Amino acid sequence: MEQIKPYLSTILFGLILISFFLPFAGAGIFGFSINILGISLVFGIGEYADFYLPTFIIFFVSIAGLIISIVFKGQNKLLELILGGVIFLFLIIVAIDVPIALKIGFYFILIFSLALIGYNAYELFFKGKAPLGTITMKCPTCGAVVYSNETFCSQCGAKLK
Ligand SMILES: [Zn+2]
Repeated sequence: MEQIKPYLSTILFGLILISFFLPFAGAGIFGFSINILGISLVFGIGEYADFYLPTFIIFFVSIAGLIISIVFKGQNKLLELILGGVIFLFLIIVAIDVPIALKIGFYFILIFSLALIGYNAYELFFKGKAPLGTITMKCPTCGAVVYSNETFCSQCGAKLK
C-alpha cells in the first residue's frame, strides 16, 4: 500500500480517462438499445456522438489531474482534491441534465472521483502531518511515530519531554 500511494491519484485519474471508453449514457427505444460512449460526448465523434460540455470539462480536468499527479509525484494533494471535486461537481450536473439512462462509465467515473476526494482529503486533513521545522521520532513508551514539537504521544498519551 505504501509503495503505490504516490501513484494512487495518477491511477484514479487514469481510470477516469479509461472509463470514457465505456458506455456513458444510453436509452432503449422500441426494444433496441443504444449506448453512447463517454468519449463520443467529449469530442463529438463515434456512434450517436454529440459534443456535451460537462463531459468535455470532466475529460480535460482528468487529463490535467493525471499530468499534475505525475509531475508532483502525487504530493500536490490540495490540487488533486480540488480537481476530484470539480469532476464530481460536473458529474452531478450531468446526472441532473441528462434525460436518458446513465450507464456504467458514468458510475465508474463517479466512484473514482469520490475515491480521489476521499483519499486526498484524508491525506490532507486527517492524517498526522509533520509541521514545518519538526522531525519525526518514536514514542519511547509505545513506539508510535510522533513529532518533535509534540508534548504528548498522540497514540498512548505518554509525556514526550
Ligand atoms: Zn506513545
